[in-house]
Amino acid sequence: MKKHLPDQAIREIQHFGEEGGVVPVIDVAATSTFLDPQDMERTFSGDLHGCYLYSRHSNPTVNFFGQKIAAMENAEAALGVASGMAAIACTIDQLTREGGHIISSRTVYGGTYALFHNILPSRGVKVSFVDINDPSAIEQAITSETKIIYTETLSNPLLNASDIPMLAALSKKHSLKLIVDNTFTPLLVKPLELGADIVVHSCTKFISGASDLIAGAIAGDQEFINSLIDVNNGAVMLTGPVMDPKIAHELYMRLDHLPIRMKAHSEVAQFLAEKMQSKNLKVIYPGLSSHPQSEYINKTFSGDFGHGGILTLECEDSEKARVLATKLQQEKFGLYAVSLGFARTLMSCSAKSTSSEIPEQERKEIGLSDGLLRMSIGFCGNKEAMWEKFEKVLSTL
Ligand code: PLP
Repeated sequence: MKKHLPDQAIREIQHFGEEGGVVPVIDVAATSTFLDPQDMERTFSGDLHGCYLYSRHSNPTVNFFGQKIAAMENAEAALGVASGMAAIACTIDQLTREGGHIISSRTVYGGTYALFHNILPSRGVKVSFVDINDPSAIEQAITSETKIIYTETLSNPLLNASDIPMLAALSKKHSLKLIVDNTFTPLLVKPLELGADIVVHSCTKFISGASDLIAGAIAGDQEFINSLIDVNNGAVMLTGPVMDPKIAHELYMRLDHLPIRMKAHSEVAQFLAEKMQSKNLKVIYPGLSSHPQSEYINKTFSGDFGHGGILTLECEDSEKARVLATKLQQEKFGLYAVSLGFARTLMSCSAKSTSSEIPEQERKEIGLSDGLLRMSIGFCGNKEAMWEKFEKVLSTL
């Protein structure tokens, strides 16, 4: 696959407004007119492609957004959907319609874990959770029913980095599909170039950047993206979690400054992580050479946009984490809230919030302690001033 610069690729996508405006208009129409009734019939029967018929099937503004996501991920095509969970659930649904088996990383986002653990088995889809960087554990888990290997580029919240080239080689060897959730690392890592088949995003996070909407995207080959909107079998078309054109337009505009924002997140997070490490705090950040999987990080991150905005601090127990977070919030270092990718810093204790769906024993085994404080570092304000606030709080503990 040809290597490309994702920020340049995003910029090269340009759609004009109706009167030559520098941005496209929002096409809100729920349904489209056919001049020839037979064309409508041929569109439904699949004999005619490229016509807009109904906005749950396809919409021009959502397609424009999809083209920018495809450019960013170096994919043939991409589709905007209603949320990150819709992106994951529809992708899995499309690939496991007759049942099957998924090999998933043990350290996935709590919502994904709950979908895989609590919902998929009732639909005839089995899931094995494994250490995703252990090739022998993966090979042992593969059965004749296995269809998918599923992982996150950087896991939420542990920041485990996946060895995507190794997973891609295993997927190819066993004719499986490798799905990578790239929510934490848009632009930083390009999983399709590393051999993945499908990338999913929660666009609610960095791609939005404003914590003001919920959205998702799926990127892959044209055939797979087309299958999602097939009128007879498409998981997005028939279960319905489509992206609203107004949201698509918002995100289309924001993708132009995503490269600047990602660099800014990375710069501040790298600075704070180094400062925290210099105080002997137990900080995990992909831009530190002390990161346990720095070997995979060096293999997968392009380096052009740094190492992202997420770091974790191990505070030993939940009480210490809560006290630290409360004081940091009082000091206006950040806000105690779930989610990530916001311009401001967000903090949360993952074990009892966004990873609480993972059973306690499993959390223990994967090393997700109650004292882990996840920080999504924002870029608002000055990084030295942020560190001053942090140090001030530290001196009171
Ligand atoms: N994937 C990851 C890695 C996430 O962190 C999240 C949400 O936190 C999701 C998917 C789900 O995204 P959404 O909330 O947009 O449905």
